[in-house]
Amino acid sequence: MEKLEILKDKPLEELTEFFVSLGEKPYRAKQVFKWLMNGARTWDEMTDLSLGLRAKLAGTCVIDSLSVADIAVSEIDGTRKYLFETRDGLYVEAVLMEYYYGWSLCISSQAGCRMGCRFCASGRHGLQRNLTPAEIADQYIICERDVRNGADAFGRPLGESGRVRYVKHTDDEGKSRIGHIVMMGVGEPFDNYENVMTFLKNITAPEGRNLGRRQITVSTCGLTSGMRRFMTDLPQANLSLSLHAPNDEIRNALMPVGARHGVRELIAFAREYARVTGRRFTFEYALFDGVNDDLRCADELADLLASEDSSANAGSSAAPEFHVNLIPANAVPELGYAPPPRARVTAFAERLLSRGIRTTTRRELGSDIAAACGQLRSEKMETF
Ligand code: SAH
Repeated sequence: MEKLEILKDKPLEELTEFFVSLGEKPYRAKQVFKWLMNGARTWDEMTDLSLGLRAKLAGTCVIDSLSVADIAVSEIDGTRKYLFETRDGLYVEAVLMEYYYGWSLCISSQAGCRMGCRFCASGRHGLQRNLTPAEIADQYIICERDVRNGADAFGRPLGESGRVRYVKHTDDEGKSRIGHIVMMGVGEPFDNYENVMTFLKNITAPEGRNLGRRQITVSTCGLTSGMRRFMTDLPQANLSLSLHAPNDEIRNALMPVGARHGVRELIAFAREYARVTGRRFTFEYALFDGVNDDLRCADELADLLASEDSSANAGSSAAPEFHVNLIPANAVPELGYAPPPRARVTAFAERLLSRGIRTTTRRELGSDIAAACGQLRSEKMETF
């Protein structure tokens, strides 16, 4: 049997070569690329292609690399956790959230993960495999179909929470779109660099979906070679680092990857990143009860982040290029980590703020459907 092509795996240049190899004009690639990135489900929708070409594509290519297996809807805030199935039977999760500024999608870069962070449920079964560019893109493309339709694949209406007060991102027909992507689902994006980058280039290409580069955030556990490539390849996007500790001793106990790159090396890189790109750099800091939530940790972190010249001009605000996002831990009972009491989270945030560090505390969305950070892993996978 002939292998079916998945066109969303290809960057536009490769797609163009593919169409030429079919004996088609190169501009056909652009037409199809635009349709695919903007959510076409069928070849027949692509009305600017000849019937002959549509038939040829239908015989050799598939449109979607994922199918929707299930969607869990939070009764608290309308957050939706999508469970997708790959063509070889693996499960992939994405989380669709409504904010006042519009829709945001948290997407996965791998099936499983091999970074082994002790507190994270997503990596408990290790890595199954990297997701392909199409599988990363389809999380976005399929969810955006639902957003545009105002209903999910099971006919349930979207946007009922009223959380989106104004929608900045609409298409030509005034229909809602997903304006923000955060790569904070399952997997380590920089452990699958090429495929993640092909996806990001495709989704931001003006010929395709044309999503703004600044609307994209990639989160990493600190693989510095990937961070360095990313700084050159996509300097307009936001980079976020899961730091979670102010020193190597605590960090290495939480994250085995810490042995590769120490906290000081990571902060030096972040400073360089902010200087080179002119973008603010975000540190994620998950607070775990009794592990890294002491005020001494806050002080140690503030010392680390203090700007290089702050001693020269004492009293000036520290580290304007840095932002700390506190995540009260999401309890994953099997792993034995718990969130600190609320008061300690507040005290930690206030200590950082008093030291001049821009600090926010992440709101938890979808807590009733285990959609929060580090909780993504399908119940189906748990039975493996
Ligand atoms: N591998 C990337 C992308 C995963 S993003 C990274 O490490 O950044 C998921 C975020 O949730 C990371 O910051 C991760 O450290 C955090 N996380 C994982 N498990 C968590 C938990 N139980 N509680 C709070 N945050 C958690």
